[in-house]
Amino acid sequence: QLEHTQLSAPEAGVVISRFGQHADVEDHTGAIERCNIRRTINSLVCGDKVVWRRSLQPQGGISGVIEAVQERSSVLSRPDFYDGLKPVAANIDLLIIVSAVLPVLSLNIIDRYLVAAEAMQIKPLLLLNKIDLLSAEERAVVDKQLEIYRKIGYEILLLSAKTGEGMAQLDEYLKSGTSIFVGQSGVGKSSLVNNLLPELQVVTREVSDGSGLGQHTTTVARLYHLPEGGELIDSPGIREFALWHLPPDEVLWGFKEFRPWLGRCKFRDCKHLNDPGCALHHAIEIEEISAERFDNYHKILLSMVQDKPNFFKVD
Ligand code: GDP
Ligand code: ZN
Repeated sequence: QLEHTQLSAPEAGVVISRFGQHADVEDHTGAIERCNIRRTINSLVCGDKVVWRRSLQPQGGISGVIEAVQERSSVLSRPDFYDGLKPVAANIDLLIIVSAVLPVLSLNIIDRYLVAAEAMQIKPLLLLNKIDLLSAEERAVVDKQLEIYRKIGYEILLLSAKTGEGMAQLDEYLKSGTSIFVGQSGVGKSSLVNNLLPELQVVTREVSDGSGLGQHTTTVARLYHLPEGGELIDSPGIREFALWHLPPDEVLWGFKEFRPWLGRCKFRDCKHLNDPGCALHHAIEIEEISAERFDNYHKILLSMVQDKPNFFKVD
C-alpha cells in the first residue's frame, strides 16, 4: 500500500469498472486511471463515487489509490452463495425493464422486475421491444394490456431495436442519469446496447457460440458514457438480473398501487388471500386494482416459497 506522503491531494472520481484489488477511476477531466483500493473499503462497485489520490511516482500501471466511497443513492445486488447479497453496481437512476412483445408479452415477469425496482428504490421504465413484429391491431391489444401500468403511473416505451422506432425517446430517458437494462434472455437487450454504443458490439444471441454465453459474458460491469448523454452501466450479469428472494412484506410493498389499501382490511393480520373484509379484494371489485396484478402478486409470493434456493428463477 502507498504511503500518504507519496500521494497528491484527494480528488473526486467515479468507478468505471472494478477488477479484484484494482479499479478504473474516471477523474474530472474524463481520464481513466487504474487505482489500488484501500483495505479499509469493504465494498466498491461500478458506479461508485469515490475519493482517490494520485501517486507521485506511478508504478506498474497503477496511478493512485481509492481512499473512500461516498454514500450510494441506490445499489443493485445479486445473491451470492457465500456472501448473501453482493453489490454489483451503484448510483443507478433508471432501471429499464426490457420485454419483447412477441412471442408472448409476460406481465408476470414485468411485475417481478417492478417489485425489484421498488425494493431497490430505482425508478423503472417499461420498454417493450420488437414492436416491428406487430400489426396495427396487435399493437392496439398490447397497448391496452399496458393500460394497467399507465394507470399506476409507470412510464412505458414501445420500441424496435431493429427499425430504430422509439430510439430517440429512449435517448431522452437515458439522458437523465445512469441507467441499466434488465430483462429475460432474447428480448433484445444486447441489440439495444449495440445501437447505443456501436463501437462496443456486445454479442447478440444469433452470433453466440450456442452455449447461450457470448464472449462478452465473462466481462465485469462497466460504466459507459452515451454519445447522446447519460450513462449506461452494463454487463451480461446485470442484463440477466432477476428478482431474488424477498420477504413477503417487500413483495407486497413492490405492488405500488396496493399501498393505499393496506391497513384498511377488516383483520389486522389479513393475508390478502380469501380473508373476509380484505380491502384489496374490495379495491379489485371497484376496479381500483387490476385482478391480474393481484394474481401475479400471489404467484410471485408462492414461487418464493417454493423455489427458495433458485434465486434466478423468473417464470
Ligand atoms: P438479449 O438476449 O436480450 O440480449 O437479446 P438479443 O439482443 O441478443 O436479441 C435476441 C434476438 O432478437 C436477436 O435475434 C435479435 O436480432 C432479435 N431482436 C432484437 N431486437 C429486435 C427488434 O426490435 N425486432 C426484431 N424483429 N427482432 C429483434
Ligand atoms: Zn387484506
